[in-house]
Amino acid sequence: MDMKPQHDSAISRRDFLATSSGALLASALANREVLAAENATAAKLALDGGEKAVKQVFRSPVRWGAPERERLDALLGQEALFYWKGPQTALLIERFRKICPAKHIMTCSSGTAALHIAVAAAGIGPGDEVITSPITDIGTVIGVIYQQAVPVFADLGADTYNLDLNDVERRITPKTKAIIAVHLAGNPCDMTALKALADRHRLVLIEDCAQAWGTRYRGEPVGTIGHISCFSLQNAKHVTCGDGGIVGSNDERFGPLLQRFGDKGFDRLKSSGLFESFATNYRMSEPQAAVAAAQLERVENIAAQRARLGNSLTRRLEKFPCVLPHGVGAEDRCSYWFYMFRLKQDSVRCDRAEFVKALSAEGVPASAGYIPVPLYRNPIFLNHGFFNGRWPIREFGLTAMDYGNVNCPEAERILQTGIRVTIHEAMTDEYIQSAALGIEKVARHYAA
Ligand SMILES: *Cc1c(COP(=O)(O)O)cnc(C)c1O
Repeated sequence: MDMKPQHDSAISRRDFLATSSGALLASALANREVLAAENATAAKLALDGGEKAVKQVFRSPVRWGAPERERLDALLGQEALFYWKGPQTALLIERFRKICPAKHIMTCSSGTAALHIAVAAAGIGPGDEVITSPITDIGTVIGVIYQQAVPVFADLGADTYNLDLNDVERRITPKTKAIIAVHLAGNPCDMTALKALADRHRLVLIEDCAQAWGTRYRGEPVGTIGHISCFSLQNAKHVTCGDGGIVGSNDERFGPLLQRFGDKGFDRLKSSGLFESFATNYRMSEPQAAVAAAQLERVENIAAQRARLGNSLTRRLEKFPCVLPHGVGAEDRCSYWFYMFRLKQDSVRCDRAEFVKALSAEGVPASAGYIPVPLYRNPIFLNHGFFNGRWPIREFGLTAMDYGNVNCPEAERILQTGIRVTIHEAMTDEYIQSAALGIEKVARHYAA
């Protein structure tokens, strides 16, 4: 099986130089490049008509090919395309177990579906509170709200962008039933501390691994420490089948319920035909499973390459006092769904918009922030209008939540000062080094 990163530059220029006979010449060339690079940071900004720091063309990764075609060919020989007893679904589950060893697994239609199945299986119901991050995809909390439960937003670490343990603890009440830990951008949450906190308060710990394919927490794959873990196969994620999701659990209280909560409440092992649970249809079909099964074989290379590139960017940015690099634990592997550093507003003579404009002019694939506002600042939360303009649990007095009063100051500042840099597996070290150079050049120029 071909496990190489799928990009057409089969061999980078650096690899070529390193493997060619002229190794001495190569190192001389490399030194000259470094010197030229050092000079470049003092040079005129591309924004002001200077030379661009990033000269390589931005190449998008090739995301699918022969392995996916092979699976789809096999699929067309099948008599049925339904998930239950489907060979593609079985293969997807088998391959998923190698990434995230879970006894009970349900494939489903999206990451949002996986999270809804998880909270339903966890027994989250009307008025229950679920603590989670305000900087995430809205899919993290959609299932919570559909279960008539209450998302409670906790603040985040300044550079990890993940849940701040102390703030989570402060927000625990007698109504709290679960925590959803979002491994934002593929950076693992502090799972040991979160698990201890959850156990101490008898809370269900759900992991939102939608952005964390291939992520490791202290050497362990994410999704294995919490009680239930959820993954997304949406098109923008590390691996995809267009849309899809997977939910898994090793906990005997919740694991056996995952299938029915993704399948209209129907327990296919019992097949009595009688409904004992209420749920919607979140099933994933065989064509999606076929593509997803092939995609899972790519996870390790994608995550390893992104981790390498992101960490090398951090090593460069650490030297610059006006930026705060993406904070990743020394024993962890972040699979950088994106890289985000923060601008220290007091240490620069420009605003973020200008800084980003200058970066873009240098050819650095950067953009300001992530989502525009924390989830609780969206109109739907401020209006409490989830169900046709109404929120029954509030009207019935099951919650007094007022999202207009929620404030997570660090999360707000993260979104105001964050600068996102695209990282993907088809990028070369050379490319990332030149992007780092572009950031250094702009940082030097605007340093206060
Ligand atoms: C993408 C995403 C989801 C939702 O996944 P979908 O497949 O788009 O429904 C949930 N949480 C996070 C953190 C995500 O990035």
